[in-house]
Amino acid sequence: MVRDRARKQAVRAAQGADAYARVQRQTGRRFSVAQVNADLLAAFEDAGWPVSAGAERADGGMWSSYPGPSWVLLSRRGFAHAEGREDFDPDDPGQADLSVAPTVTFNAPAAVGLAGEFVSVEVPGDQAPARVVEQVSRHLAQARAKAVAAAGSDAQCALCGEDYPAAYLLRPSVADELAVCPACAFDGDLMVGAFPQRLAYEFDRLAFEDLGAPSGWAAVAALLACAAGPGLEVLLEESWEGVLEVPLGHWADPGSLWIWLPPSDRPAALQGLGPGASLRAVTAAVQGAHPDLREAFRRRLAEDLEQDEEPAPGTAPHDYLVEQLWPAVIAYAVAFGTDGIERFGQSPPVVDLSDCFEEGVLADHFAQLRSALRPDHDLDVIFTLGVGIRVVAEALGWATDWPRPAA
Ligand SMILES: [Zn+2]
Repeated sequence: MVRDRARKQAVRAAQGADAYARVQRQTGRRFSVAQVNADLLAAFEDAGWPVSAGAERADGGMWSSYPGPSWVLLSRRGFAHAEGREDFDPDDPGQADLSVAPTVTFNAPAAVGLAGEFVSVEVPGDQAPARVVEQVSRHLAQARAKAVAAAGSDAQCALCGEDYPAAYLLRPSVADELAVCPACAFDGDLMVGAFPQRLAYEFDRLAFEDLGAPSGWAAVAALLACAAGPGLEVLLEESWEGVLEVPLGHWADPGSLWIWLPPSDRPAALQGLGPGASLRAVTAAVQGAHPDLREAFRRRLAEDLEQDEEPAPGTAPHDYLVEQLWPAVIAYAVAFGTDGIERFGQSPPVVDLSDCFEEGVLADHFAQLRSALRPDHDLDVIFTLGVGIRVVAEALGWATDWPRPAA
């Protein structure tokens, strides 16, 4: 107290009251790890990352969260774990030195180190949270590029024959031996009984454990999650007892699905986002840049159907657009666009996505997930997917009739 007053007087005498206030701010800095954690999660969200609610308290001195494909830990250096004490509070002045800035440990994938490439870096937590997000985004983009480049081709999609690592082929039907690529997930040759529950768990494991997985799988997941009836998470938990995991949060909230974005040749609409973003942020970015997409869909469909007669007086024209599926349409255009650029280094998409959906197979998947949508009875679903994906891809500047590259 005495020392502070002496210092106060000395500073005042030398530099005046304003300078004193400045010196106090610089020397008396105290960090609340809880606050830094909240600010950091807000910065991830601002940058378009999906962020789940996160922990309500520090566990063993560390705040833990899962933004996008990562696992982020926030601790005060020198006090991490506090020798294993679970009740250690990094913001209690009796237990920790509050002038020590927190450290951010960024790990990706969330199950870091289990499969292939990963990133695990520490960055200082005393800088602006947006700057932390920029730094870890750069690390994530590099690790993603390495993982995609390192992916081998020890297997082929059972339907189209495209080369993939075996781990990246998933099983959408009850036929255990039919592992396919994302473009073939709803192919007509899979009319053997849909098994979206298993596909959901296989997708979750891939997303949680592997940084190199084809981006197209997120589009498949988006379609299933958008189409599903209410309570999908519970349905997934109850409907398949072959696993110990719980379904990831994006099944209850498809907007929080992580979509990998093109590392280069990126459409203007996606320029402001990082290496990936939530489906919610991607949808907002695409619609923000192209607010007329829904109208373009309706115009294109009218052309395709050669509908030139006006609706009867007093009746509204039939609107084929299924709003519920629109985010999935954007996910297909963007995620397969990323896949085209990452895997083949050419303008996406490399497959005609409007051919990816067989009505009966899709209907089987939707029925399993208690969807009210009936693609086998209702043409709107197929029109929205097929025509909608073409319209979105073209708005992003991507041609949609490119052939697959020669093997
Ligand atoms: Zn395939």
